[in-house]
Amino acid sequence: MRRNLRFLVLGAGMSGILAGIRLKQEGLEDFEILEMAGDVGGTWRDNTYPGLSCDVPAHTYGYSFERNWRWTGFYASGPELGEYFRRCAHKYGLMPHVRLNTRVTDIRREHGRWVVESADGQTREADIVINCFGVLCHPKLPDIPGLKRFKGAMFHSARWDHSVPLDGRRIGVVGTGSTAAQITAALAPRAGHYSLFQRTAQWVAPAYALQRSEFMRGLHRIIPGFSRLTGKLQGELFYEIAKGVTGDSDPAWRAVDWLCRRNLARVRDPELRRALTPDFKVGCRRLIFCDGFYEAIEATNAELVTAGIKGIEAGGIRTVDGRLHELDVLVLATGFHALNYTYGFEVTNDAGARLSEQWTDGARALHGVAVSGFPNYFMLIGPHSPVGNFSLTAISEIQMDYLLQLIEPIRRGEASAIAADPDAERRYYDYLGAGMAKTVWSSGCNRSWYLGKDGQPQLYPYPPTTFVRELATPDLSEFVVA
Ligand code: NAP
Repeated sequence: MRRNLRFLVLGAGMSGILAGIRLKQEGLEDFEILEMAGDVGGTWRDNTYPGLSCDVPAHTYGYSFERNWRWTGFYASGPELGEYFRRCAHKYGLMPHVRLNTRVTDIRREHGRWVVESADGQTREADIVINCFGVLCHPKLPDIPGLKRFKGAMFHSARWDHSVPLDGRRIGVVGTGSTAAQITAALAPRAGHYSLFQRTAQWVAPAYALQRSEFMRGLHRIIPGFSRLTGKLQGELFYEIAKGVTGDSDPAWRAVDWLCRRNLARVRDPELRRALTPDFKVGCRRLIFCDGFYEAIEATNAELVTAGIKGIEAGGIRTVDGRLHELDVLVLATGFHALNYTYGFEVTNDAGARLSEQWTDGARALHGVAVSGFPNYFMLIGPHSPVGNFSLTAISEIQMDYLLQLIEPIRRGEASAIAADPDAERRYYDYLGAGMAKTVWSSGCNRSWYLGKDGQPQLYPYPPTTFVRELATPDLSEFVVA
């Protein structure tokens, strides 16, 4: 006899859709997916800026069980990915389970069940909660004085206002992360004048974003297993390169380092090249893969502004050198409240302990999935997941399969609650700490979104193969099973 369990999945982005698909495949039909926005798709719904594409090869980024012959290039574009995840949600019958415009405001455990409240005043109960909110969900506005005084069009990169005309206008972009680099490559050539406000120079690797011909797509469509094989090969290439960031494969990483430096060396103006040269190691912050960024910023209609921002005024941005950069459109490509796993809501356990307080010094979860003291509250892509060196779809699949095995004793009626054992959680963090020192993320760069409150990288510091091995089967001695 199997217990009938009720699940609440939080978020209908890539990992929430995956969770729903896997629950259905397991015959666990009693679930709802709560989504704060008006559609599914997560990151690929929210980000619609010009030039958006993924930095993980397309066939590696999609779900392993839903390879896609339609990708038009080596990297999938934002619209393609949005369409892909929407299609998956429909194809696998998730839409009847999805509750759109349902923003979670409170999660508390009462009498052995989770009670989840949403902003629309509704309350739901579940045996098991799976938090799939992801790591880059909530846009971060910069703390620049006068933000509200600007009279032109202004928006965050993840809230693009498509009603605003762009061609021939004076456009300013604040930020130099992956987002700003892609926007610059796509938008600067269309602007009358383009100003990129740089606080920190970043390394930019060439993406070699090859387009795929109709013929190649046709081959992917008709040859069984071709997309799967391509995904495997692309994955091998990606993980070989990614090994370098955790210090396990110097040659591959040296090649990436060389490519970044060679890319930068193509900037002809020595002063501009100097201004674009980072003062940290390649890969210390998330590496940007982007074609056309340097060409765009070198063009005569574009300007790299390195003077600090003093404030925003009605007509544009005033820099500390006293200059007013007049703008019609201001884009804030200023990132996200990254790796914040309780943003906008609280989680309280039966004893009244709050997760935000337990995580005062930084979020912790055993294998990125389970939290001590919070039974049956699980996460996909939770704290210290390998988001710096592994595909997020692969992480979600591995963690979800692990989770389904972990809850087997509950399904069989042999247990009712499972949480990470506090000692195992501590040991796991010591183990992560031991691996962190040799990663490139620890080599000294400030303000990276990879860094936590303690200034240490919040990522998994070992190769993806180690992560896969560690999550193959749960070791129940690492958990409190009640
Ligand atoms: P980000 O990497 O966090 O970059 C934010 C940028 O805004 C930084 O350059 C930061 O400067 C700047 N900034 C923030 N506050 C500022 C202020 N008050 N004044 C001046 N500058 C300020 O954010 P992102 O570019 O949106 O990228 C986030 C992540 O999303 C990426 O690393 C990547 O993982 C993902 N992403 C992926 C893709 C892709 O797949 N190709 C595309 C876009 C995004 P400092 O550097 O000085 O802090």
